[in-house]
Amino acid sequence: MFFLKFTIVGGWILLLLGTLWMPQQAVPWVSGMSLPLVGAGFFLGPRGAFGIGFLSALVCVGLAAAGQIAVGWIAGPLTLFCLLPFLLWRKAGQLQETARGSQERLQSLEERLRHIQKEFKDRQITLRSQEEAISGISDLYGLSKQFLATLEEDQALRITEEALIKALPRVSEQVRSDVLQKIRSQVEQGEVSIESLISSLPAGNGGMESWERGGIVIGQLALGLKRVSLYRQVQESAIHDGLTGLLVRRYFRERLEEEVARASRRGTHLAFLMVDLDHFKQVNDTYGHLVGDLVLREVARRVQASVREVDLVGRYGGEEFGVVLPEAGRVLGIQIADRIREVVGRTPISAYDERVEITVSIGVALYPGDASSADLLVEQADEAMYEAKARGRNRTVPKGGGKTAE
Ligand code: GH3
Ligand code: MG
Ligand code: MG
Repeated sequence: MFFLKFTIVGGWILLLLGTLWMPQQAVPWVSGMSLPLVGAGFFLGPRGAFGIGFLSALVCVGLAAAGQIAVGWIAGPLTLFCLLPFLLWRKAGQLQETARGSQERLQSLEERLRHIQKEFKDRQITLRSQEEAISGISDLYGLSKQFLATLEEDQALRITEEALIKALPRVSEQVRSDVLQKIRSQVEQGEVSIESLISSLPAGNGGMESWERGGIVIGQLALGLKRVSLYRQVQESAIHDGLTGLLVRRYFRERLEEEVARASRRGTHLAFLMVDLDHFKQVNDTYGHLVGDLVLREVARRVQASVREVDLVGRYGGEEFGVVLPEAGRVLGIQIADRIREVVGRTPISAYDERVEITVSIGVALYPGDASSADLLVEQADEAMYEAKARGRNRTVPKGGGKTAE
């Protein structure tokens, strides 16, 4: 492009100079050479025309050199100038074609846009209702996840309250707390009926268009709460014995092992008691199993009440209880064992219409004095307890004999 412009401008300057010099001889040359150039332009394209123009310019320069000075100087550049309209014409054609292409593309885009607009309109209504559904679903999904991660009832209630605020933003605080209360009481009663929850809600209040969405969320909340409370119950029953409420044997053993490991790490000691009811079979035989159960439960309560907060009491067997006394030595171990015996046997136990007198025999063993592991500790305490039975029951026997209390 630069070369073309340069040639045209240069041609003009030369033409001007030549015309000033000898204008009358230039005219036939100009007309004579411009015609084949324009023709060549048509058939060979702009590059071809330009090449021929350039060649003719060289011929003119040759002529000028051979003596025809004026003809050469004027005609040569002038022939190049003749290319200008042709190039413009070509350019215009190209532009026109581009414009036509753009117009076609624009038309197809417009058509596509119309199509999209129509589709959008068709889907707009569906979209609006889907939007609510999607936000509801994502809320519920988030809720379920939160509930799954929740094991505490307080936390579950807090999540429930927050979700209710989110689900029913325009409902008054009073209505929300009523709903929460209803959910709670249903969960506590162990019966969660989503239908009854929804039907008990005030209709169309607080600008709520429909209770449908709220109802689904509330149902989910109630189920979430129920799950948390069931999980808690399962956890409880896995740790606590159903009849006595004491730690179950398996969990108690784990805790005992933990305590032994802790004592070993810290270089301290602990006492372990094995408590067995005396002649309990007779109680069952005399009063029946139902009474036996109540007696067992009351003895468990009395054992638990006789020990410190840090001590662990577990139901080790049918009518055998294990007691772990962390940091307790022989003297304290025997003291607490005697206190248990005293508290259990002090007053008869009322069960239904019966008053049952009961006593316990207790074996005491110490870690690390009597045993180097949890297993051995239990074994030693068991042996001591049998020793207490052998010595007449209702007594405390520490491992290795020692003081025998009665
Ligand atoms: P000892 O003084 O030698 O310990 O005599 P005992 O009768 O207590 O000992 P034994 O081991 O012979 O009997 C224990 C009885 O405890 C047998 C069983 O019927 C009773 N028992 C165990 N678990 C339960 C229970 O959960 N409920 C009731 N009612 N009785 C139980
Ligand atoms: Mg017994
Ligand atoms: Mg027994």
